[in-house]
Amino acid sequence: MTEGRLIYILEKRIIDIKKRIEEACQRVGRDPSEVTLIAVSKTKPLQMIENAFELGLRDFGENKVQDLSKKYDELKDKYGQTMKWHMIGHLQRNKVRQVIDKAVLIHSVDSLRLGEMIEKEAAKKNLICDILIEVNVADEDTKFGVKENELLELFNELIKFPHIRVRGLMTIAPYVTDSEKNRKHFSKLRQLFIDIKYKNIDNEFRDTYFNRDFFNILSMGMTGDYEVAVEEGSTMVRIGTGIFGARNY
Ligand SMILES: *Cc1c(COP(=O)(O)O)cnc(C)c1O
Repeated sequence: MTEGRLIYILEKRIIDIKKRIEEACQRVGRDPSEVTLIAVSKTKPLQMIENAFELGLRDFGENKVQDLSKKYDELKDKYGQTMKWHMIGHLQRNKVRQVIDKAVLIHSVDSLRLGEMIEKEAAKKNLICDILIEVNVADEDTKFGVKENELLELFNELIKFPHIRVRGLMTIAPYVTDSEKNRKHFSKLRQLFIDIKYKNIDNEFRDTYFNRDFFNILSMGMTGDYEVAVEEGSTMVRIGTGIFGARNY
């Protein structure tokens, strides 16, 4: 296929996804500007990412530290801070240093030990690191993320770190062919989010560390189920194949 043809296909897909996000918002009375589209560019070449940027996308997601770091370095001179990189995959402690000043948001924090390492590296670089807590809402054995009943405990620890700002929650829902099957998981994550944001649990303790105004991100929904996720309150959808086509590993 010619480059022009590829860009045309990419543009059509992006327009279609944005329209579907808007329609999902309309169905539930939400403002589409509340939803950020993250283009998940894992395994995809730089040229495709640049094309997506030229077509208006600004947020990109990678699930491997090496790939995020490499793509960031290769594109930073051209696009600077307008191109934003999200770390969406499982993060090992020994790789925190490589992403801490490259990712605008780490979506996948699921342990206190990882939090400790992020705190340490962020302090060294004198920055505040925005993170989400990954929750395994469907309780799948194969998935990373904290279980629902471990969430509050982890949250209460993470908010104490001066160089970490807990911005919200993230989940990777099960792979399904009928996206309606994931509605209950998205609805569950939203409920957990609201409980944390508004309920007066340990109020005095929390008010010392936690500013609820910054707790405003719900990262949920992928190619197969993002419309349902948006109906259930998602503020960040992470879409790979829907934008860039199938991945060949
Ligand atoms: C790959 C990936 C996505 C995107 O998946 P698609 O089904 O291709 O849209 C979203 N989130 C995470 C964490 C991923 O690893």
